[in-house]
Amino acid sequence: MALPPLVEPAAELSVDEIRRYSRHLIIPDVGMDGQKRLKNAKVLAVGAGGLGSPALLYLAAAGVGTLGIIDFDTVDESNLQRQIIHGVSDVGTPKAESAARSIAEINPLVNVIIHNTALDRDNVKEIFSQYDLIVDGTDNFATRYMVNDAAVLLGKPYVWGSIYRFDGQASVFWEEHGPCYRCLYPEPPPPGMVPSCAEGGVLGVLCASIGSIQVNEAIKLITGIGEPLVGRLMVYDALEMEYRKIKVRKDPNCALCGENPTVTDLLEDYEDFCGAVSEEAQEAITGSTITARELKDWQDSGKDIFLVDVREPAEWEINRIPGATLIPKGEILSGEALAKFPQDRQIVLHCKSGVRSAEALAALKAAGFKDAVHVQGGIVSWVNTVDPSLPSY
Ligand SMILES: [Zn+2]
Repeated sequence: MALPPLVEPAAELSVDEIRRYSRHLIIPDVGMDGQKRLKNAKVLAVGAGGLGSPALLYLAAAGVGTLGIIDFDTVDESNLQRQIIHGVSDVGTPKAESAARSIAEINPLVNVIIHNTALDRDNVKEIFSQYDLIVDGTDNFATRYMVNDAAVLLGKPYVWGSIYRFDGQASVFWEEHGPCYRCLYPEPPPPGMVPSCAEGGVLGVLCASIGSIQVNEAIKLITGIGEPLVGRLMVYDALEMEYRKIKVRKDPNCALCGENPTVTDLLEDYEDFCGAVSEEAQEAITGSTITARELKDWQDSGKDIFLVDVREPAEWEINRIPGATLIPKGEILSGEALAKFPQDRQIVLHCKSGVRSAEALAALKAAGFKDAVHVQGGIVSWVNTVDPSLPSY
């Protein structure tokens, strides 16, 4: 389904712009009219990370006149494997500022608006309303649902992408012409089921594959050319090198854009909606949580503890807490590894950040290990508060 252009054309292109964009101008479908529409377009990138990096670079190079960047994070060394808009000299600086500097180097004609803040329910509508189109590169479900809800409530289209290891997905959600994200995914996945990139990893170049699809769709929407990915989900498998398109229909029962919506404004708390940990895990960790510092004190005092790292072997290769034994969460949840746990020692579980260890703790307590505890904040907290010399990831 072809759609009319999202943006009106700018009055004219300067001589500099005509020179710069000549390879666009000679494509009949883009031409002067399309390039003027790009010049007039205001696009917001949510996140200047894995997807935002290639997306912002290509949106800037393409001549999108106004680019907003919202990101509250700072550049970390572990970002550089995929977040190609940032460089070594940017480590430690806010991502939004670092991205703006790279954009200025590629195309100084772009007006960049920096939002060096976290997107939240209090600012999302006000920020989105300044733009024609949103490019969503967020990596967590809470923000993803909030982006969708705000976009639908404001009637804005947005280009969505997601990446995990070797798999990517992309689509365009525009309530006026097709389904929204909630039509496709009415409920967030159960907490702990879908690891983040930080936990599961992502092939760096996958960001370019999906980020470039997002820019492709953004350009099509702005200029009104081609068939936008509205009502279709693009699924990419980098290992098989296969792209599949799946039809997504508007769900008449969608809580947000359906016939009888139950969500009529932004939710009070998206973190709560997506749940950082499951109810069972929340119950298990209540009163059974220690800090990394307390773990260190227990170790130093000679307490007889059985410290279990429930992460995956690849993570164990990167860093580990002295004295720990590796038993991945899956083996605990399946019951396979329960025989490895002693009855007469203090069991302490930890993972990277405290989510997986909470899930494992629930399974262990259900199996009768009532005194087991887990470490709040996991090995990340250990590195921050006890041993900064350990590598982090
Ligand atoms: Zn919907």
